Amino acid sequence: MLRFAFCVIAVLSTVVGVSENEAAGQGTENSASTKSRATVSPRTVRSRNFSMRTDLGDADSEELVEQLEKMLALISRYWGRPNQQTIEMFVVKDLKNWPAGSLDPDGLRSIEAKAGVTKHVKQTQGTRFRAKSVVFAVADRGTPQHEAVHAYCFQTFGETGPVWYSEGMAEMGQYWVENSAAVNCPPYIAEYIRSVEPKSLNEIVNGGREVTGDSWQNYAWRWALCHLLATNPNYSQRFRPLGLGILTGQRTSFEGVYGSMAKEISFEYRFFLDHVGVGFRADLCAWDWKSKYRIPRSTGTPVVASVSARGGWQPSRCVVKKDQEYDFMASGEWQSEEGSPLVSADGADDGRGKLVGAIFNDDTYAIGKPFELGAFGTWTAPADGQLVLRCQQPWTEINEEDAGKLSFRIKIAGAGKAFEDPRTATSPETKKP
Ligand SMILES: [Zn+2]
Repeated sequence: MLRFAFCVIAVLSTVVGVSENEAAGQGTENSASTKSRATVSPRTVRSRNFSMRTDLGDADSEELVEQLEKMLALISRYWGRPNQQTIEMFVVKDLKNWPAGSLDPDGLRSIEAKAGVTKHVKQTQGTRFRAKSVVFAVADRGTPQHEAVHAYCFQTFGETGPVWYSEGMAEMGQYWVENSAAVNCPPYIAEYIRSVEPKSLNEIVNGGREVTGDSWQNYAWRWALCHLLATNPNYSQRFRPLGLGILTGQRTSFEGVYGSMAKEISFEYRFFLDHVGVGFRADLCAWDWKSKYRIPRSTGTPVVASVSARGGWQPSRCVVKKDQEYDFMASGEWQSEEGSPLVSADGADDGRGKLVGAIFNDDTYAIGKPFELGAFGTWTAPADGQLVLRCQQPWTEINEEDAGKLSFRIKIAGAGKAFEDPRTATSPETKKP
């Protein structure tokens, strides 16, 4: 018996993880594990946190439940709240196995559209609430995971947040792969994001007409923003409390949390959209906003920096001036592929591993076209700004396996003591007596 009069609110959140047209022939439908899936009469499969009614065969349903449990452990750790209530799901492989009337009509409609839906019921009294979710999803790999994120959030917090956050985080759950910080979305999502005019942060966060279940393209933008904020260390520490604040009804906002770093976040967001692909590491490619840059002295004292193979653009610490000539040298070796030989800053024959640079304008927050540097030489700056450096390799292939660092030195051309070419410099062991 309830002591208080609870008000009952039914909230329907429709979700199309992959739009109807995209589902066939894209993403998980082609994976080997779904090719010859046996189906059975619907029955209930239970695990620690899930009660799943499904027509998937034993092996597939067990695999799915195991995957869901792993994801739930991850997200409940992320949000700092263990799951307290069983998550009830209907996961449908083939509607022919389901007798008429055995599925809720909203759930049925969504499954017919090869999508998913989470129905919520919430009883509130003051700040207390009781919330219950039921998930309906097609039995692909991603949709049950996406919907399970909504169900966890709603049952735990009584709230899933604004559309951009709710759907962005549910997509992260869908694309999550154990022990991987890399982008793991289907390739067509990344291709779409790279190929079209970017949606602004403001459009995603404050888009007045943004609704759940609108289009897979809008889901892609929400995912991209959440992925960047959750994985890039420049923003991730504020993103978790922002999300918790949203879910627990505190007075917080995207602008309030990130307003002071609006320029940085806009730049890194655009950068992410330009370079995103399966394998991209937003954590390793985060921008270094803290390093101090300086103008090299006319006395020829070099500006020195260390550049790692395991990263995106990194500071040279040197501010350069358009049309000014500079001498540079980069000593040391690195490798940009596991098992490949160490190379100098000149890189391998195919250009991989070569030291490359670009100019970042810290007034406009724009980055210029990359250019090659290598191990030693004289170079003329194409623009004013901060010189940034990296090891040439595809952006989606930067990972922990990359090893080695270079020591980079730059000075005004001809000033002070000349640099020694690191490729011909005699090492101490071979020095003549
Ligand atoms: Zn959703």
